[in-house]
Amino acid sequence: MPSSNLYPTAELRAADSRHYLHPFTDFKALAAEGARVIVRGEGVWLEDSDGNRYLDGMAGLWCSNVGHGRREIADAVYEQMKELAFYNSFFKTTNAPAIRLAEKLAELAPAHLNHVFFCGSGSEANDTVVRLVRHYWATLGKPGKDIIIARHNAYHGSTMAGASLGGMKPMHSQGGLPIPGIEHIPQPYWFGEGGDLSPAEFGLWAARQLEAKIEALGENRVAAFIAEPIQGAGGVIIPPETYWPEIKRICGKHDILFVADEVICGFGRTGRWFGSEYYGMEPDLMSIAKGLTSGYLPMGGVMVADRVADVVIGMGEEFYHGYTYSGHPTCAAAALANLKIIQEEHLVERVANDIGPYFQKQWLALGDHPLVGEARMVGLIGALELVPNKPSRHEKFANTGDVGTLCRDFSFNNGLVMRATRDSMIISPPLVISHAEADELIKRATLTLDQTYMALKKDGRVK
Ligand SMILES: *Cc1c(COP(=O)(O)O)cnc(C)c1O
Repeated sequence: MPSSNLYPTAELRAADSRHYLHPFTDFKALAAEGARVIVRGEGVWLEDSDGNRYLDGMAGLWCSNVGHGRREIADAVYEQMKELAFYNSFFKTTNAPAIRLAEKLAELAPAHLNHVFFCGSGSEANDTVVRLVRHYWATLGKPGKDIIIARHNAYHGSTMAGASLGGMKPMHSQGGLPIPGIEHIPQPYWFGEGGDLSPAEFGLWAARQLEAKIEALGENRVAAFIAEPIQGAGGVIIPPETYWPEIKRICGKHDILFVADEVICGFGRTGRWFGSEYYGMEPDLMSIAKGLTSGYLPMGGVMVADRVADVVIGMGEEFYHGYTYSGHPTCAAAALANLKIIQEEHLVERVANDIGPYFQKQWLALGDHPLVGEARMVGLIGALELVPNKPSRHEKFANTGDVGTLCRDFSFNNGLVMRATRDSMIISPPLVISHAEADELIKRATLTLDQTYMALKKDGRVK
């Protein structure tokens, strides 16, 4: 029996708009349009309640690294739930899956990161980061060293601290954000903001904004710099090659902590276990989530370098911070099963040496399309910048976002999930995607670009 008979789409949609407030959603517009009901996932494929199939080019939401529908994870979760579904880690108690996961993460992370603080999501991880870096400096007798520098158009989550660290203007316009003690510097977005500088020159300029900010504020007031190795939600901003080495120099020269938000880049996305390794950075803290469980259950964490752990463990008073679900045994069991798959199927190496290069070659070739001003990709995370008048990258479409949305809608109709950020198209497929599925993705993306281009020609938005 087709699944459409099992899922009464119209009724589900009506109940959805009556009761369900969706995240990052214009409630009124969604109620008018109705949401797609996703009912099943297997590998890189999704199916909706009408039986339509989609190639999931976004790995859920940057997280389903091992693909959908993995039995191994479901079984591990089932076994753990029967044994001990939940217990807390607050009052001198602990549990085996959380211990094993902490041990595993210490093994997988760069050598100097050997401790982890668990939480429920990426946003919570970054809330913990804010608390922990301030606690670190206070423990060292510098409570006034509490400002955290982040970047415009960064995404660090949606809680008060996460959204404050993030540099998304629309998010700051609601609810009195950012919270005090957060400063922002420009992002290394050469295509959009590089002016007439070369990528190399612009990368240096953007990195030096960190140094200028530290000097303007005074080093004795700056606690940390936080950044995504590659900005995800901001539009897959891949920094010029000069950027991270210069940031590393600046962080080395000044006594501040460096926090890598690895929520997207972690667990193989770049072809290394962590984006920091891809760029040769040595973070003092790493926020992790998403690929940690491949989204099978919610879980996040903050990995802590020995330099920081020594202080907060050795000298600190009690750290008054924790979540009921810190070290949740069932979520930890899901994470362990997920990491086992990533290791046993060599997914990180596969992204570095096999599917990564295979996919990149075809993705970068989309840069030849008349609508595409730039195609970029590292590992299995990439973007296409749509422009009205190639080769100019300075001219943009009016009403930013309209063309991206148009293209995304074509994409959905072609059975491909791509995400639009402004007028660029974003891709971040499961790391298990096969060569044939990669070919299929590129075929659907090409058709989508052609249809978008034709539509824009017709209404005069491109010549
Ligand atoms: C998704 C994301 C977050 C927030 O994670 P949630 O689990 O949605 O709270 C934080 N940082 C980055 C880089 C992200 O992509």
